[in-house]
Amino acid sequence: MDNSDNRRKKIRLVATGGTIASQAKSRVSTEGYASSVIKVEDLIDQLPELAEIADVTAEQIFLKPSSAITEEDLFNLSGRVNELLASDDCDGVVITHGTDTMEETAFFLNLTVNSDKPVVVTGAMRPAHVISSDGTLNLYNAVIVAASDKSRGMGVTIAMNDIIISARDAIKFSTFKVEAYQAPLYGVLGTVRNGVVDYCYRPVKRHTTTSMFKGEKRQLPRVEVLYMYEGCSDDLFDAAVATGCKGIVTAGTGNGGTTMSMMKRYRAEDGSDKDLPIVVRSARVPTGGVSDPFRTPGQRMIGSGDLNPQKAYILLRFALSVTDDPEEIKKIFMEY
Ligand code: ASP
Repeated sequence: MDNSDNRRKKIRLVATGGTIASQAKSRVSTEGYASSVIKVEDLIDQLPELAEIADVTAEQIFLKPSSAITEEDLFNLSGRVNELLASDDCDGVVITHGTDTMEETAFFLNLTVNSDKPVVVTGAMRPAHVISSDGTLNLYNAVIVAASDKSRGMGVTIAMNDIIISARDAIKFSTFKVEAYQAPLYGVLGTVRNGVVDYCYRPVKRHTTTSMFKGEKRQLPRVEVLYMYEGCSDDLFDAAVATGCKGIVTAGTGNGGTTMSMMKRYRAEDGSDKDLPIVVRSARVPTGGVSDPFRTPGQRMIGSGDLNPQKAYILLRFALSVTDDPEEIKKIFMEY
């Protein structure tokens, strides 16, 4: 199926929990379920058809709702994926995951996986066993995507609801619809339809094998995220600075607007911003990104490009693990 080298592929399923592993109260109840209770063996038992696609084996790395995932879990997951993909016994990895923070884990892996073999993240919006649950087909399709030679070099992808999206561009766009994952600015990379994977685009930004953050575990400096809104005071900014954080990401108004006094402090030309954390201005607006029309070199306030606040948070932490130079950080935001 979609394999140009005609070799039977070995796909490893790494399960983490989420709605795809959740038990509903009844066949018509799609919310208020017991989250992350179904083990991966039970998930694949429902899908004997996986054996028609590839040799699929599975492991449960942890079993929790995605909002409970910690930094340590992320490094463990990334380390395990790297270990699996380094072996000739593994041609690709599928990760089952809660959808709430799936885009964050997928982006984290996009920065840290050291392989061009496929890594496909999937989940579900409806718990297992309810009428029209989306989990089984999403899992089946994710294995097809991971087993396809066409998926090599695509970086980490999210495959849900018949579409394949780059981890970089994917945004959770609905709190309840099965088409929860979208890539509103750049669109999808491809589709998986009736067992056929079809790509139209390839990501060109740095990821996986070309990422400077791939491979080893590193110390990630503290970064805070602040939401901006009409009438926003500076109290939370001052509180964030007082934590000693090295960076702040703002979920700004429009093209990354922050409070007026933050703008003023970071645009002062007397160097008085030199002890303030680096600020990356992202946007609370779902699409369009944040440009830097007024920025002068050296300023410690940087536009996030088109990364949303939760992805800018991850990239800023990785960037700050290698440099504190705002120009270098700006470059990283342009390249990833
Ligand atoms: N609560 C779930 C999570 O673990 C939601 C989901 O999977 O859709 O993210």
